[in-house]
Amino acid sequence: MSLRLVTFDLDNTLWDVDTVIRRAEQTLRSWLRENVPEVVALYEGEGIAHIRRQVMAEHPELLHDLSRLRTEIIRRAIEATGRSGPESRALAHQAFDVFYEGRHQVHYFEHALEVLEELAGSYTLAALTNGNADFKRLGLDRFFSFGYCSADVGASKPAPDMFQAALKQAGVEPHLALHVGDHLHDDIHGAGSVGMHTVWVNLAEEEPEEMPTEPTTSVTSLDQLPDEIDTIRRGLAAARKP
Ligand SMILES: [Mg+2]
Repeated sequence: MSLRLVTFDLDNTLWDVDTVIRRAEQTLRSWLRENVPEVVALYEGEGIAHIRRQVMAEHPELLHDLSRLRTEIIRRAIEATGRSGPESRALAHQAFDVFYEGRHQVHYFEHALEVLEELAGSYTLAALTNGNADFKRLGLDRFFSFGYCSADVGASKPAPDMFQAALKQAGVEPHLALHVGDHLHDDIHGAGSVGMHTVWVNLAEEEPEEMPTEPTTSVTSLDQLPDEIDTIRRGLAAARKP
């Protein structure tokens, strides 16, 4: 038995999420300007933060379901400007679809796709995200056998739920699994806490003073991943020889 499952975080591990969200927000705002112009002042002003706080207070569980959270905020904003309930709901869903389309206009980090393709030849790959990117919509199901997001399990990383769901689905013990991610707390501490090996994707070459959990190893460019993962695999295989 050796390393079998490699799970990947998505946002900021395979692409820069801030750029994607900023552009998707711009597209959403243009759509609102065109289709629900009366909501724009509220949506772009202080009012939207108030609505967000209200929704979060009433539905704290939506923190783990960013799609429903965003749709509900837009719906309330539209309703607050005088549209009927059903109309607000329909417009909010249309607006969210526009945002969600933009959410999937990602620009992969260098080497991301070739590395996924290479690793998919040797391991079961899975996607684990706290965000609402859909790996299938991105065509990444040609590499990932399955995936979980926080909305699926009702909890965000670093909670163990998503990692445990992936281990269970793959039928793999944690010490034969490895998680790759950019976030020291959500990814490295979370996966390390359930007993998985971890690779910290540190593209910005940060030098943190403290780490909640040390990663097994780290990379500063995605093309280093196959070798680093192979080193872990060989270490595991060697440890198992009598
Ligand atoms: Mg991330």
